[in-house]
Amino acid sequence: MISCLNCGNSLTINIDAKNKDFKCKDCYEKYELFFEKKILKIIHKKKQLTFFITDLSNCDKEFSLKNVYEMYNKGYLDCIKLLNSKYNQSDNCWELSVNKLKEKISQNIKLKINNILNSNAEVYECGSCMSNYSSQDALVNNYSCIICSKQLSLKNNMSEVDDLKKNLLTLETNWVTSF
Ligand SMILES: [Zn+2]
Ligand SMILES: [Zn+2]
Repeated sequence: MISCLNCGNSLTINIDAKNKDFKCKDCYEKYELFFEKKILKIIHKKKQLTFFITDLSNCDKEFSLKNVYEMYNKGYLDCIKLLNSKYNQSDNCWELSVNKLKEKISQNIKLKINNILNSNAEVYECGSCMSNYSSQDALVNNYSCIICSKQLSLKNNMSEVDDLKKNLLTLETNWVTSF
């Protein structure tokens, strides 16, 4: 379990993307969140967590409201409605349960691995420009690439599976010291 480095509870971060304010739900300890391409970084002093989230579209450096909506739509974080008695309406609060996030990413990777292992479709690849072809298209073009006319070879899906398995293993890591 990934826990808050201050209170030790399972880490859930309250997200205020507008004010770039991220803190532990239980003890209000501050954390920093930002993206490096598709890698979400959660930082506390010299410790950090990294999560590679492959299916997010636009991840600039800042953790913006746009990221919040997309992560919510894809099930990576939760929206909690809080009644605002002053205006007699409810406010949206965004919560990122780090352990749920980890579980969700792990599920997605396992799904991808299963899909690759269960699909019998052969894919041909051009080693030069990396274009992919179905076996039908490869046959029609005499097993040469339409773009660069190099010879095609049968793509080895196992290397992709190995990469995904590596992703799964790195996901198991906890807080690490950043330099
Ligand atoms: Zn805490
Ligand atoms: Zn090619």
